[in-house]
Amino acid sequence: MPDAPAPRLVLATRNAGKLRELRELLRGQVPGLDVDTQVVDAATAGAPDVVETGTTFEENALLKAEQTARATGMIAVADDSGLAVDVLGGAPGIFSARWAGRHGDDAANLELLLAQLSDIPAERRGAAFVCAAALALPVGGGIGSRTERGELRGTLLAAPRGAGGFGYDPLLVPTGLDRSCAELSSEEKNAISHRGIAFRALLPHLVDALT
Ligand code: IMP
Repeated sequence: MPDAPAPRLVLATRNAGKLRELRELLRGQVPGLDVDTQVVDAATAGAPDVVETGTTFEENALLKAEQTARATGMIAVADDSGLAVDVLGGAPGIFSARWAGRHGDDAANLELLLAQLSDIPAERRGAAFVCAAALALPVGGGIGSRTERGELRGTLLAAPRGAGGFGYDPLLVPTGLDRSCAELSSEEKNAISHRGIAFRALLPHLVDALT
């Protein structure tokens, strides 16, 4: 049996959902790149976990991409995302995944946020999902990198609605729509989402790096 082609791109995440999303975004976009075998996650590439010591989405996305590129010698892509609420001055922001104290406890995060906003009327419940996507590549003994940002603005509901998506999706109704992000199909959400916008902006630079 012929050997599998060597990996060419590493996604600096341990999240299977994000790996799937990026592979779909890349499919058919880079001549000669087999996204199923040549795009791998951090664990498969043998990259260590990255501690997110940054204070902005961009800093954390860059930390993940640059450290992973350095550790593997491969081109690396990472993202960092969260919910920025207007009346909370942009919080939970980079702390979105652990707002209630435990990393990734979506139900507790949502409950705490709803309690914090309980007295805030609908017209002052503006918020945005934010994503910074970063690309890092080994160049001449160093690392070259860039970031792109995407935002999805909307209004926060007083109670969760919808069963799809993840995280704060049941609370955010995108501007111009009458359904929460958890009531959209994944295609509908990807077309307007912070993550879709950021990654689509990064795509031409990634294609350049890979060809
Ligand atoms: P991370 O980018 O995986 O660190 O995600 C940070 C946190 O932000 C997630 O755990 C969610 O709570 C929240 N978040 C980021 N993107 C979304 C989204 O598209 N929908 C809902 N919540 C999100």
